[in-house]
Amino acid sequence: MRIVLLGAPGSGKGTQAAILKDQMGIPHISTGDLLRGAVKAGTELGKQAEAIMARGDLVSDEIMLGIIRSRLGEDDAQNGFILDGYPRNLVQAKALDGVLEELEFPVEEAIQIDVDHEGIVERLAKRAELEGRADDDADAVRHRLNVYEEQTAPVIDYYGDQGKLSQVYGVGSIEEISARILGVLRIAGQERS
Ligand code: AMP
Repeated sequence: MRIVLLGAPGSGKGTQAAILKDQMGIPHISTGDLLRGAVKAGTELGKQAEAIMARGDLVSDEIMLGIIRSRLGEDDAQNGFILDGYPRNLVQAKALDGVLEELEFPVEEAIQIDVDHEGIVERLAKRAELEGRADDDADAVRHRLNVYEEQTAPVIDYYGDQGKLSQVYGVGSIEEISARILGVLRIAGQERS
């Protein structure tokens, strides 16, 4: 199955995508993880992306398209994938459709994990302590939430208009939320088959 996970920074996309990956046996593709890997490895891409990420801004659509096109072309993505962190705006959502058209497999399900922003600021403050991510400091978090509202939230309607969107309440234990997501995928699969 080809799934896009949507949700604000700190909504639990990464955690839930990792669970789905194990349950469904398809890769979890996180553009944030790919970029953090590039920063760590000190590649040209990493050097370009590092300051942009630390501020909480978006890396350019052209660079992201190159990354996602090459990752989706890999063997393990041919039977499906869970995208986490891409698309981040409407330009990317349309670019993704273009890439998937070339590969002849469209996005099947978009799942939005819905949490309120209060909860997010708390979660990310905890993650900042645990993981030390530069973009989890209070200023960068506020900025990332603004970027999400302005640029990423319209992507929700993009998939809604195509009849591909499901929304899942993102507050509760990790297990409760993953059960909701799995339920939605099963129900959605039955409805559309
Ligand atoms: P994430 O781990 O998904 O929260 O991503 C961390 C940071 O990586 C973001 O704040 C952006 O700076 C950058 N990033 C990740 N995915 C994208 C994307 N699809 N487009 C642009 N920038 C991205």
